[in-house]
Amino acid sequence: MRSVSVFGATGSIGQGTVDLLLRQGGPAAYRTVALTGGRNVVLLAQAARALRAELAVIAEEALLPDLRAALAGTATEAAAGARALAEAADRPADWVMSGIIGAAGLVPGLRALAHGGTLALANKESLVSAGPLMLATAARHGTRILPVDSEHSAIFQSLAGEDIGAVEAVTITASGGAFRDWPIDRLARASVAEASTHPNWAMGQRITIDSASMFNKAMEVIETQAFFGIEPERIRVLIHPESMLHALVSFRDGGMIGHLGAPDMRHAIGYALNWPVRRTLPVARLDLAAVGALHFAAPDPVRYPALGLARAVMATGGLAGAAFTAAKEAALDAFIAGRIGFVAMAPVVEEVLSRLSAAGGLGNPAETLDTVLDMDAEARRLAGRVIDAMTQS
Ligand code: NDP
Repeated sequence: MRSVSVFGATGSIGQGTVDLLLRQGGPAAYRTVALTGGRNVVLLAQAARALRAELAVIAEEALLPDLRAALAGTATEAAAGARALAEAADRPADWVMSGIIGAAGLVPGLRALAHGGTLALANKESLVSAGPLMLATAARHGTRILPVDSEHSAIFQSLAGEDIGAVEAVTITASGGAFRDWPIDRLARASVAEASTHPNWAMGQRITIDSASMFNKAMEVIETQAFFGIEPERIRVLIHPESMLHALVSFRDGGMIGHLGAPDMRHAIGYALNWPVRRTLPVARLDLAAVGALHFAAPDPVRYPALGLARAVMATGGLAGAAFTAAKEAALDAFIAGRIGFVAMAPVVEEVLSRLSAAGGLGNPAETLDTVLDMDAEARRLAGRVIDAMTQS
């Protein structure tokens, strides 16, 4: 029987994964080694009961009694805290979903890479922060990483059987987010609620806001470089409001192969879960005649400054990705908390990168976990100062 673990089981990706595991036989087909959540005890316990998980871990330590109570009468072991989360990742499983949001997903993902099998990677932040470390760890332990981000799953699928040396360019698409059609001068007054709605995808709040700012796409550009080893100048972004074509690979013979599908993450999750087999998945089928037309446009660099920051991060390399991820998270926290405006997020990240660049060391290799975590902490500290200065002026 195949063994699985789901990190971030209470989130949007995690719940999609739990749904597919249950549809594909649940406990009769899978031995669930570990499920983890951040704070949502109810959803975690529900998933643990349904999948008869051996271990359920909640990141928030104070919630352990609640988790124990919610799991009463089951054989599921309950644990809490960052150490328990890392230990859950040490329990070998054939297939692990890395679905925690943000830099918090790095340590569990990295530790899961140390026991072989497959890591289905939704947590793009870990590749942006520590791509070389993740890939080297996977190679050392013979672990396969399968991309779950829809664009990267699309690139992966488009490259099947192809020679990477024949690739001229890779294009990832972006819906343009909540504010694609807003007048630019209105963006400064965008509220958290307005930024938290996505035209096509149902996702967690943080990635939805990152879609409106295109910090999400900026991370995906860096993720494309890290995962597929494609040079930055060959990676393009295209606005595509319908979110039906997820990525395109252009080959040197002038042909392009793209991947189309309804905007439902269970396609990419299911592809990674069942690879190399394609199983029937409960996602809507596209009716292109009914859709009628698909639209494309170049992204406006003024509306989406995060894309320019991604180019700067790739040019610097090394620890710049870790600094970028951490500063972006600090800026996003400040926006959600109502401390800074929507358009202030990119300047915060830019200022942090510029100060770290002036201090030296930003381009040093992201080779060890400690160097990545140190840079993460330093970037968050600097971002805090920049945000404080902004809110005081
Ligand atoms: P959600 O916000 O919906 O869920 C995040 C998950 O991480 C939840 O289980 C949450 O727990 C948990 N979590 C949050 N903070 C911590 C922490 N400090 N320690 C441990 N666990 C924590 O996020 P998404 O599912 O939207 O995204 C997950 C990842 O997948 C992200 O990296 C995102 O970029 C990527 N992704 C998501 C897509 C989507 O469609 N949603 C598409 C492509 C990529 P709890 O809720 O219990 O607090």
